[in-house]
Amino acid sequence: MDLFELMAQFIVLWDAVQQIQLTDRPDEIVWRWSANGTYTSKSAYLAQMRGTFCNFDAQAIWHAHTEGKHRFFSWLLVKEKILTADKLLARNWPCESNCVLCDEVTETAAHMCLQCPFAKQVLHEYNPHQVVQLIKEEVNLRRVACGTPEVF
Ligand SMILES: [Zn+2]
Repeated sequence: MDLFELMAQFIVLWDAVQQIQLTDRPDEIVWRWSANGTYTSKSAYLAQMRGTFCNFDAQAIWHAHTEGKHRFFSWLLVKEKILTADKLLARNWPCESNCVLCDEVTETAAHMCLQCPFAKQVLHEYNPHQVVQLIKEEVNLRRVACGTPEVF
């Protein structure tokens, strides 16, 4: 890290510190995982479990105001049923393991739709319907390459 970056970080930190008001009141420990700041075993359990399971209601997809094919694809995506390389390899189907777009990491549904640099660029430049169509075309191409029938 060069001196310019250090100075920039110092200025950001200086601005952040200026917002803090110090008082003569003694410090106190507050449990941040409950509304009233007190520790309970329930709040500790919920804090520990936070993010360990998905509470997304996949049924909400079926009530979305969009075309049925988009709801179906979204449901497949959320349920991790899209036949990406990780799923194909788990079934011992021959295919390339890395993402066919960036060739950087193993292709997963999350990578293909959200994390891939190419996916990010597409999401930035195209509307969601075009993105879904591009992904479907990619899935179909992969299925044809593996000798399985197209799904879309
Ligand atoms: Zn990629």
